[in-house]
Amino acid sequence: MSDVLVVGGGHNGLVAACYLAQAGLDVRLIEARNELGGATTSKEVFKGVAAKLSRYSYLVSLLPDQIVSDLKLNFDTIGRDISSFTPTFDDRGLLISRTWDERTGQSFSAVGAESDARAWQEFYGEIAEAAPIIANTFLKPLPSRGEVRQALNPKTFSTLFEVPLGESLEGRFSHDLVRGIVLTDGLIGTFADAFDRSLLVNRCFLYHLVGNGSGQWRVPRGGMGALVDELIARAKSLGVEIETGVRAQSIESGEVVAEGNEGQLLRYKSRFIVAAIAPRELDRLERRSKYRSFAPGSQIKINMVLEKLPRLRSGVSPEDAFAGTFHFDEGMAQMQKAFAEASAGSLPQVIPAEIYSHTLADRSILGSELDQRGFHTLTLFALHTPYQLFIGKNEAVKQEAKTRLLRQLNNYLADPIEECLARDEDGQLCIEVKSPLDLENELGLPEGNIFHGDLEFPFREESENLLWGSETRTENLFLAGAGAKRGGGVSGIGGHNAAMAILDRLA
Ligand SMILES: Cc1cc2nc3c(=O)[nH]c(=O)nc-3n(C[C@H](O)[C@H](O)[C@H](O)COP(=O)(O)OP(=O)(O)OC[C@H]3O[C@@H](n4cnc5c(N)ncnc54)[C@H](O)[C@@H]3O)c2cc1C
Repeated sequence: MSDVLVVGGGHNGLVAACYLAQAGLDVRLIEARNELGGATTSKEVFKGVAAKLSRYSYLVSLLPDQIVSDLKLNFDTIGRDISSFTPTFDDRGLLISRTWDERTGQSFSAVGAESDARAWQEFYGEIAEAAPIIANTFLKPLPSRGEVRQALNPKTFSTLFEVPLGESLEGRFSHDLVRGIVLTDGLIGTFADAFDRSLLVNRCFLYHLVGNGSGQWRVPRGGMGALVDELIARAKSLGVEIETGVRAQSIESGEVVAEGNEGQLLRYKSRFIVAAIAPRELDRLERRSKYRSFAPGSQIKINMVLEKLPRLRSGVSPEDAFAGTFHFDEGMAQMQKAFAEASAGSLPQVIPAEIYSHTLADRSILGSELDQRGFHTLTLFALHTPYQLFIGKNEAVKQEAKTRLLRQLNNYLADPIEECLARDEDGQLCIEVKSPLDLENELGLPEGNIFHGDLEFPFREESENLLWGSETRTENLFLAGAGAKRGGGVSGIGGHNAAMAILDRLA
């Protein structure tokens, strides 16, 4: 019998295990797959190509510096000066620096969006004021809605937590492209209408704008796997017992029954259980009569290795265009159209998408030969391609989505992307496509939802009896995964808060 059994060895499970072991508890962790890390992992995906790709998650914003220093992790991230570039059909483009500067102002004018320049600075100025206030609460007991309201400027509170984002964008910006760039932060991994009254878009938007108090999305040095490698090393050094290839099958009366790789039945007794898994998987383990529902995962991820970056028709250098987020076909009207098409059961004719290059910021993921030859990696993340579209025809829909996305991308490129892709040792192009169904099959993400379910605002309603947001209906069982309140994304916050809830109990 251990003090704590952690079920799930994604980064949140590892963070919880480290905090609890560091506090002197006897901790065991079981992971269903044969490797740890869940959606945070790096892999050499293409045969004979020495490029360690962040195969699933790729950028870091929400991981608090405090967790990195509390757990003494040797992990760091790299900032970028360019926030985004969005090409237009008439071979121009909107280049936006991370902090407003003359070049950004000129670029707004060049695409005819000069009237939105002031609104942009005001909007992000308000959010920049609110971000540290909100982020400061993430590693503390949950504040109430009223407490957060009191801490913020009323206009900002309303924008973030009350008015559907689509409405705010229509009220503040006039250019569709500008509206779209802002809206994407509400739609990453979130299948919803911009005007959705349940505010799912606002919830997603919030977590994309406040990480570490700045909302900056930074490149993990060495790739996402570097974080997991550090967590594993730390957990082992703290004496955490780790077993892989062990899938929990039920939780009953404080006992976890699991199945090992060879089909053997294993039983684990512990004083506390940390469920670092999706809430729906927890429903299954607890044999709930009804599983919770949520919006399906709705993204396609395409990983690529390139011999060279493509030049752009707009004339902007590829080093600038891909330095931040390269948005394409992400105007607000386009995204609303894509949402309507996907809701009606079709793959959108034009799929909104964005791209990022890891190697422009960090070349340590490349072997020395590829580095010297100037190779690059690109990650494409497409929106509004929900799980249901792939059921029963995964490979065919993925192929069609890939064809559409590359064709769309080529509309903005002077060098077609196919001519830039590297080839593996069998002569195949270095490109792989992951659908929401793949994510469910490979990682156990229910319906391919990258956040394990619908994100929630980072406060409790006055009627909710929650302290850390990790509590469940079962005594001594705490949720630590991305589906915990405040847990979404690569943040470790779910793991930290579940650990704190247990340490509070013991105190
Ligand atoms: C394609 C993609 C791109 C993303 N991009 C980003 C990004 O750039 N930045 C960002 O912040 N976030 C991103 N995310 C989201 C982020 O990766 C996840 O929210 C986060 O990694 C979840 O971590 P976790 O530890 O809570 O869960 P997971 O990483 O899902 O790990 C859960 C673990 O539990 C194991 N498990 C499940 N059931 C059982 C069981 N019954 N018994 C034992 N083990 C079990 C699973 O095998 C898995 O290893 C992305 C996600 C995906 C899929």
